[in-house]
Amino acid sequence: MEKKWVYSFAEGDGKNKQLLGGKGANLCELTQSGIRVPPGFVITTEACLSYLNDPHRTLPHDLMEQVKTHLRSVEEAMHRRFGEKKKPLLVSVRSGSAMSMPGMMDTILNLGLNQDTLEGLIHDTGNERFCYDAYRRFIQLFGKVALGVPDELFDEAFEQIKKQAQVTQDIDLSARDLKDICKKFLQVVERYTAKPFPHDPNEQLEIAIKAVFNSWMGKRAVDYRREFKITPEMANGTAVNIVAMVFGNMSNNSATGVGFTRDPGTGENVIFGEYLVNAQGEDVVAGIRTPKPLAAMADEMPGIFKELMELRNSLESHFKEVQDFEFTIEEGVLYCLQTRNGKMNATAMVRTSVEMVHEGLIDKNQALLRIKPDMLEQLLFPRLDPHTDMQPVAKGLAASPGGASGIAIFDADRAEKMGHNGHKVILVREETKPEDIHGFFASQGILTSRGGKTSHAAVVARGMGKPCVAGAEGITVDVKLRQAIIGEVRISEGDIITIDGSTGAVYLGEVPLIEAEFSSDLVTLLSWADEKARLLVMANADTPADAKRALKFGAMGIGLCRTERMFNDPARLPIVIDMIIADTKEEREKALDKLLPIQREDFKNIFSIMAPRPVTIRLLDPPIHEFLPQEQQLIDEIDILRNLRKNLRGLRVLSDTVSFMYQNDPAHPKVLTPADPELLDAVILKKEMMLSKVRSLHEVNPMLGHRGVRLGLTFPEIYSMQIRAILEAAAECRKEGIDVHPEIMIPQVCTAQELNRVKEWVAEIHKQVEDAYGLKISCSFGSMLEVVRACMRAENLAEEAEFFSFGTNDLTQATFSFSREDAENKFLPMYNMNHILQDNPFEVLDVKGVGKLMELAVQWGRTTRPGMKVGICGEHGGHPASIEFCHQIGLTYVSCSSPRVPIARLAAAHAAIKSR
Ligand code: ADP
Ligand code: MG
Ligand code: MG
Repeated sequence: MEKKWVYSFAEGDGKNKQLLGGKGANLCELTQSGIRVPPGFVITTEACLSYLNDPHRTLPHDLMEQVKTHLRSVEEAMHRRFGEKKKPLLVSVRSGSAMSMPGMMDTILNLGLNQDTLEGLIHDTGNERFCYDAYRRFIQLFGKVALGVPDELFDEAFEQIKKQAQVTQDIDLSARDLKDICKKFLQVVERYTAKPFPHDPNEQLEIAIKAVFNSWMGKRAVDYRREFKITPEMANGTAVNIVAMVFGNMSNNSATGVGFTRDPGTGENVIFGEYLVNAQGEDVVAGIRTPKPLAAMADEMPGIFKELMELRNSLESHFKEVQDFEFTIEEGVLYCLQTRNGKMNATAMVRTSVEMVHEGLIDKNQALLRIKPDMLEQLLFPRLDPHTDMQPVAKGLAASPGGASGIAIFDADRAEKMGHNGHKVILVREETKPEDIHGFFASQGILTSRGGKTSHAAVVARGMGKPCVAGAEGITVDVKLRQAIIGEVRISEGDIITIDGSTGAVYLGEVPLIEAEFSSDLVTLLSWADEKARLLVMANADTPADAKRALKFGAMGIGLCRTERMFNDPARLPIVIDMIIADTKEEREKALDKLLPIQREDFKNIFSIMAPRPVTIRLLDPPIHEFLPQEQQLIDEIDILRNLRKNLRGLRVLSDTVSFMYQNDPAHPKVLTPADPELLDAVILKKEMMLSKVRSLHEVNPMLGHRGVRLGLTFPEIYSMQIRAILEAAAECRKEGIDVHPEIMIPQVCTAQELNRVKEWVAEIHKQVEDAYGLKISCSFGSMLEVVRACMRAENLAEEAEFFSFGTNDLTQATFSFSREDAENKFLPMYNMNHILQDNPFEVLDVKGVGKLMELAVQWGRTTRPGMKVGICGEHGGHPASIEFCHQIGLTYVSCSSPRVPIARLAAAHAAIKSR
């Protein structure tokens, strides 16, 4: 049997996007569900791969035969014949892969035209202007896509004729002008390619199919796939859709447009989109004329508008998802030309999820699953401070929400360069094209002076979640001079501007940004997520300010409160340093006595903010030399101080002289005060002590050195002070009637003996504090699992620990024997590139190795202590894929940084729903 390379829209499987591409599969789905689509067929991605893998780039041998057979059916349906003068059939040849890659590959319209078919079409339609319009479009697109003729050559020729004809808008060109343009365009192509233009429609078709196949490997498409991490498993090759042409450029009763079934910027349940009367496909997105909003069609073409609303409803009830669709109206008849799931920003995704559940279109699980957890990050993006008194200098369309400031840059290459050098950039263009895509990646936001809400700039920016203001017509962008003029104001390249993609406002200068607020829809959605999730989501928070933030993001407690940040506070560091350089226990205790009330206050604050939620406090973890300056810095400082000390006599003479000579001169009131030599001596002495401490504390491998519980056991006073501070804070809260649940967590544990010692101190201090305050406090005691041995001994450790928390950053280092910084700087990128390791294990939890260890430790811990509470507090705790794994191995909670808490809550729900 011959391989089947071609499927008609009536027979293709609408679910098989891998084979038919997203566009093709959906065209099949639409056709089969009775929605009006022009007849056509799909050439499979397999045919594309077969062609691309062939060293001679030949089409599969029977492909064109199958194409011709299917073309016959299209001819019958249309009552037209491809390549014949009488009633000629024209087709479009359209790319479309399994993953939507808007504008990245090529499409050719009006194929099948030549001198003969053109005459036939003129004869049929009696509309010369339309026919030449179609022909010039065909020559340009075919020339560009299939023959590689640069667009500029066509643009130049086009402008020349426009000038001769003294018109500014394409729409005002007459049939004669368009005829001239066709002639010019043919010359452009023939001159550039040094070959005659292919006039045979069958030849055109074959060349076009190959060109579309080739566009899969075009630079734009390859870059795009790399940037969006589209792997061959997700999309491999492009399908080609051959579709009978319908014409939106036939008359003023014809139009073309693009729509969203709901507003993709806000999620509001209203049709959204734009259309142009008497125009063809590309015109709307290319920003040739500024299109009209679809709502205007209600007045302009009320009958068609009603049909459009029906189309919108059928699309949504069929796909159960917001659709992004393309349509054309030919002489009053509406055709749907494409549909796909609408790409929306997070605000719109959240709102539509909630509303579609209320409308009964989908259920809660579907509502949760349709939002990728990472997407919520956008909602946590800053926006412009609404209370700014800065005035906008221009206004465009609010094309993609959020605020951004940066320097204005007028081309994508330079934007990319500046962005990579760490500058914040706003890309400013008249309009953007797919070849500007690298400039988008590097920019904070995009500003264009032409095009609508569905222009290229708007669509791409929304997909990336970047702010965009489009079609700011008050602005004249001059890319050559690298400036934009707005009335009296000139923005030159390098000037700082701010755009507000939520309102369309453009400001000169930098407008302050503020943190995002949670919408009530997001609150609803996350409450559904919490209903479905089994994992609890905690936050890592070290200070009262952090704790407030954690609550705002919906944390169910604090899973990791690190005490070292409190030590590092500039006001406290001197006391910490005194504690470190102390040579005796007494001196050390003196410093610790000063720290105790400070830490107690910290904990008290955090407890009261989080009450009644649990707060897990980790006792001091890093090696103490981290609180001291670097050795070289101390050496340099001591050097300077000593020199100063030496020169002090000279300084005094100078000072005396100055004050004597200038004492009556009001213009010279400054009197030098030389340093106090005794103070200077004291400072030098202290620095010398610090230096000698730094030297004695030096470790070859500090991450594996004197830190965590090892340090705690060496200097029991430090942990004792912290334990006391925690328990006293809890007691004070209790006294005030605040319901607190502190948990003490010990870092770097490798044996139960370590835990046992510290636990004894806890018990002793616990009793003292309860006696002193005359009340009972509950406080649980647990261990970090971040050392391989601790995981292996989990069964044993669980006799002492009431809970475990995986510190997967350290555990990953320990499991791989990679030190993170060295690995990431020296060899991990190479490992990833060569697929020696799939991911960076510090970013994506290594499920197979580290994960295996975790799974065993959970099991063993729970053999000793059934149902034992186990969590994770490493960075992985905020990453959706890792969260799914944590769910699978039965963890109790994940803990992550506050802004990732909403993401983790959604991811925890996904994990639970998927595992059912
Ligand atoms: P893209 O993938 O870049 O959106 P398409 O293949 O969808 O490219 O084609 C771009 C535009 O060309 C469409 O929006 C549509 O308006 C127009 N078009 C494509 N095929 C036809 C057709 N058969 N009849 C009329 N217009 C078409
Ligand atoms: Mg399209
Ligand atoms: Mg650690």
